[in-house]
Amino acid sequence: MTIIVFDLDDTLYDEITFVYSGFREVARFLASSYSLSEDILYADMLCELEQSGRGKVFDAALQKAGIHSRENVGSCLKVYRQHVPQIELFDDARRFLDRSAPNSLYIVTDGNKLVQHRKVLALGLYDYPAIKKVYISRRFGVHNEKPSPHCFHLICAEEKVSANAVVYVGDNPAKDFVGIRPLGFRTVRIMRGNHKDVEREPHYEAEYRIHTLDELEDILIEMNMDKG
Ligand SMILES: [Mg+2]
Repeated sequence: MTIIVFDLDDTLYDEITFVYSGFREVARFLASSYSLSEDILYADMLCELEQSGRGKVFDAALQKAGIHSRENVGSCLKVYRQHVPQIELFDDARRFLDRSAPNSLYIVTDGNKLVQHRKVLALGLYDYPAIKKVYISRRFGVHNEKPSPHCFHLICAEEKVSANAVVYVGDNPAKDFVGIRPLGFRTVRIMRGNHKDVEREPHYEAEYRIHTLDELEDILIEMNMDKG
């Protein structure tokens, strides 16, 4: 039997849409608190993201609006992390989940526990019949996030299978495969999102590459794994 495990961000949905959704909510919050233009605040955040990445987006937007303080940065972060995200599954992800057997799939995702929980909730993944369990790895401690194999071992124990019966599909060669592939887990890299053009040393890479989840069934056959 084959157990398929998915990463979440940039594998099942487009992570940048979460970022946009969070910025929009922060812009709305600041606009209503300070009688500022939501659209200008939002545009400033996007501009900062484009120029310097995610690190200081709220600092920059607050500075530009003349309302920077540590407290306001904290409030922005809180709104961002606690907002109900407006996000959707990739079409190919939905198609794959829809044709998968009940309780046949898992998710293993890193990141802030509440943020990841809200994403899973917003994507409707807790209610998806095909998904048996979602592992938010930080619930087991930061040291059990990827590349730690901890959650993958839990899945093996739950399914009473060995590592070679488990396929992980993820997008990030920095951490998705390097910890589990040497243990015999099978790995597939989906080439999309932030890391799609990243080339790493061979031991960071997955066994196979795909561009959409529509290719996954054929890859499973090539890997000599039935879909379970
Ligand atoms: Mg990812």
